[in-house]
Amino acid sequence: MTNKRLSCEKHLKDICLKMKFALGSFLGVLTSLKRITLEKKKLMAKACINSVALYGTEVTLEHLEYSKVIEDLEKIQRRYMRNLVGASQNVANETLLTELDLPSIREEMAIRMLKLRARLECDENSFIGKLFTLCKQLRLKWEIKYERLIKYYNMPYRSFSELENKDIEIIKNSERLRRYNSLVSKSTTNLYRKLCGNLNKKKVCLYLKENTHRKRATRILFGLRTGSNHSMMCQYSRCLKISPFCVFYPKIIEDEAHIIEECPLYNDARTILRENLKEKILGIYYKLTLVEIVLNGKKFEKYIRENSNKTKRKVDSIIKNFVESIDNKRKQLKID
Ligand SMILES: [Zn+2]
Repeated sequence: MTNKRLSCEKHLKDICLKMKFALGSFLGVLTSLKRITLEKKKLMAKACINSVALYGTEVTLEHLEYSKVIEDLEKIQRRYMRNLVGASQNVANETLLTELDLPSIREEMAIRMLKLRARLECDENSFIGKLFTLCKQLRLKWEIKYERLIKYYNMPYRSFSELENKDIEIIKNSERLRRYNSLVSKSTTNLYRKLCGNLNKKKVCLYLKENTHRKRATRILFGLRTGSNHSMMCQYSRCLKISPFCVFYPKIIEDEAHIIEECPLYNDARTILRENLKEKILGIYYKLTLVEIVLNGKKFEKYIRENSNKTKRKVDSIIKNFVESIDNKRKQLKID
């Protein structure tokens, strides 16, 4: 028995090593691909993680060796996500997952396990089905694991004929809530939470859907939205600068809103932005602040979703031009 268990562990270790290597290489290649939209890269990564990384996790989830593997897989997934949007290390993982609207590895695993269970439960006449029934009656390890899982997600204990969409929604919502609660405790996410509302059922923002080949602008917008950027306030709160004040107005705090709406250093870029925006989104232009528009606030997102694709692309391009010219100006003045 001992020998067999050892060889099983060794086998698992081997598989995991290969899997991590395969996943790392594939995601590496995926990152360097050009002319593919961010949305597609995200879907490809998701498919890869599901088929390579989560293969067999329905049964191996409980294995001790595996908790370390899950951690490693999550690291690989996060590294890839950071790469996609050019996020720095100090952006919280929860922000990344929320912003890109991606499920966590654990969440995917839970869904896979519940799906398998539902399949076995309705296949009770087959050999595997019978084993499953036995496992259930005797409350073996796998059954206990299942009970823990549904308790964790606050789902009713019941027989599944199949895993329904509403069950999956319960898991997803519960993960969203967990992420939200963890973001509430971080002061750097104040603006982000204000822009997103309660973060529940968040859709992927315009800037992550359109013109995503413009990596620099996408990166700047991501940084400004999620509180990880070069504004004095942001750097000051992370102890990277000694004061949070603007270099032009030494008595005014330079945060994201100051840069986008007030700072005279960027007057030229702002004038162009205002003119172009007014022309494209007059319906909402006077109802929102520039921060809400530029940083894809909730109301702006709702409005823009009802517009044609051409308008969406154009508006996104106007915004990206604006943040790029701010960045150029800062580089020119050596502010960062
Ligand atoms: Zn300023």
